[in-house]
Amino acid sequence: MTTLDETHDPLRTSWVDSANGHPDFPIQNLPLGVFQRGDDAAIGCAIGDQILDLAAIAPLLDPAWQRALSQPTLNSWLARTPADERALRRRLSGLLSDPAHRASLEPHLVAQSAVTMHLPVQIGDFTDFYVGIHHATNVGRQFRPDQPLMPNYKYVPIGYHGRASSVRVSGHPVIRPSGQRKPPEATEPTYSPSRRLDYELELGLWIGRGNALGSPVPIAEAGGHIAGYCLLNDWSARDLQAWEYQPLGPFLAKNFLTSVSPWIISADALLPFRKPMPPRPAGDPAPLPYLDDPADREQGALGISLIVTISTEAMRTAGLPLHILSNGEASAAMYWSAAQIVAHHSSNGCNLSPGDLIGTGTLSTADATGQGSLLEISQGGKAPITLPSGEQRSFLEDGDELTLTGWCEASGAVRIGFGSCSGRVVPSR
Ligand code: MN
Repeated sequence: MTTLDETHDPLRTSWVDSANGHPDFPIQNLPLGVFQRGDDAAIGCAIGDQILDLAAIAPLLDPAWQRALSQPTLNSWLARTPADERALRRRLSGLLSDPAHRASLEPHLVAQSAVTMHLPVQIGDFTDFYVGIHHATNVGRQFRPDQPLMPNYKYVPIGYHGRASSVRVSGHPVIRPSGQRKPPEATEPTYSPSRRLDYELELGLWIGRGNALGSPVPIAEAGGHIAGYCLLNDWSARDLQAWEYQPLGPFLAKNFLTSVSPWIISADALLPFRKPMPPRPAGDPAPLPYLDDPADREQGALGISLIVTISTEAMRTAGLPLHILSNGEASAAMYWSAAQIVAHHSSNGCNLSPGDLIGTGTLSTADATGQGSLLEISQGGKAPITLPSGEQRSFLEDGDELTLTGWCEASGAVRIGFGSCSGRVVPSR
């Protein structure tokens, strides 16, 4: 675990005025992403409400970085070492805080509102875990009231291989999927649009350096393979899922779309917000040695506040404010840490590659205020919620727009945020 440096100094400010006091992107954050610049995609760094074009300022950076930072994706950059990532962060922090650089850099700022964002990487593989223990318990209870968690849950970080081709950046429309559904009262399934479309509030991990096939990542080194984090919405069709998932797990209920926020919030930026992993309840087994690391126990949790809001067509027409569906802190919900996820994923020799995406699984708080899916909030559809418009919802209707936001606060640190991850449901095609 590395330590804080001048880039985390709460007193450091930027000559980019909008950065100072910005809820997401003050100079202490400096996330990387990919934006549309003319006919090309280019790597940039968010600062306030602006983006600094890193390809354009490459002459001011280490020549060894120029090639990787001039690509249309961040894969080459993420393949480099954590020391490089930290050195770039220090360089950008210096350039954006020292007014002496203002004249040369200001021409290479573009307003975030003026450009579209892309996926930050070409994603090779996407894996989704299930480490949100309250979600696993809430959902398990609907099917197995006496034994919500399967016997393996406290030994194995459960995951499944997802689909990389349908991961999209925030803003991409959510086309209601069709598929095989068989309501309990029906004798035969039909192929028709999903009626139980849901969201899943998750964090995404972006893999930096990879590992060779056959070479597991030891847990003490796992942090060096995580480049950063994003917000992730694992859109889910519960009716398709209920009919298809046994015996091999999620398939078409999940792979029609996954949305991510555009900025990679670096592990370095999140350092001031790390926390001890919540103590395991009395009676829980200790992690097997390959999943146990004292430093991870001390600092493996992330103090990230997460909010999910919904607006419907009627709410927008009436000018009603967004309605909060979930509000809570993710760190309290993860039974397994990010390092444990990476160590477990590679523990059989499976190779992870730069730009791979790993979802944590749905993150729900222990109480009802921060449940990360409508499956939990509406108790499987039995308890619809009423929105400020008077409309009721058990699951998502066409026109509904979901937005995930996340941020970190801690004493002695400047607040940083993830930006947002949105999607609006459009009718089935
Ligand atoms: Mn999921």
